[in-house]
Amino acid sequence: MTRFHWSALLTAGLTALAYALGSLLLFAVAFAGFLSLLGLGVVLPTWRWFGPYHCHGPRDRRCVALTFDDGPDPATTPALLELLARHRVEAAFFVVGARAAAAPELTAAIHEQGHLLGNHSYEHGNLTNFYSTRRLVAELDRTQQLLQRTAGSAPRHYRPPIGLSNPNTFAAARALGLTVVGWDVRSLDTQSRDPAAIVARIERRLRPGSIVLLHDGGLPAPQVCATVELLLQRLRARDFAIERLDRLLA
Ligand SMILES: [Zn+2]
Repeated sequence: MTRFHWSALLTAGLTALAYALGSLLLFAVAFAGFLSLLGLGVVLPTWRWFGPYHCHGPRDRRCVALTFDDGPDPATTPALLELLARHRVEAAFFVVGARAAAAPELTAAIHEQGHLLGNHSYEHGNLTNFYSTRRLVAELDRTQQLLQRTAGSAPRHYRPPIGLSNPNTFAAARALGLTVVGWDVRSLDTQSRDPAAIVARIERRLRPGSIVLLHDGGLPAPQVCATVELLLQRLRARDFAIERLDRLLA
């Protein structure tokens, strides 16, 4: 039973009570409450409303994981890979299938350099998160097959576009044996252009076990590299180790 199921049961109970009492007010409150919780559950991964959304690792070790979404991007990913190699850091890349298909060598390089490849849908469309389970399985499996072909490794982790989830997200992931991964530290690196401000925001939210959401698609390479360089420096200064996502969650 997920929190979504419990809230639906509670709403059904309250609706029955409202009917028995003839209270339109109780009915309206129960229904509005359910809709509000549903909406918040869709947009907030850390609520884990619809299923086992993994948004952080154990809180008792001073380790964090870095994750990069929306690549691979020929304009950014090579410089980022070079930087991570120089610092001997292993990260997770939640790649978009269509972009991986357009840059197969880069996709293979991510895997070969010891990083974790994750599934971030095939099209990354605005409506991807609202597909039926069957259509979502087909969408995710397309990326699974592609990464198996190009990198020789099919992902075991799925991050929904924009982090939105609903019961279909977890049903599709379960069908493909994928763990659904979110984050607890959102860098907002697609909204700010200032690496210092991005890193300061991350630092304010960072805790042991945190999963940090960053992007390597659609951003200028100098910004991405300056942000990551500064972040690595600050993590070292604060005695945080960086662990690859799958090991952090193990
Ligand atoms: Zn994305």
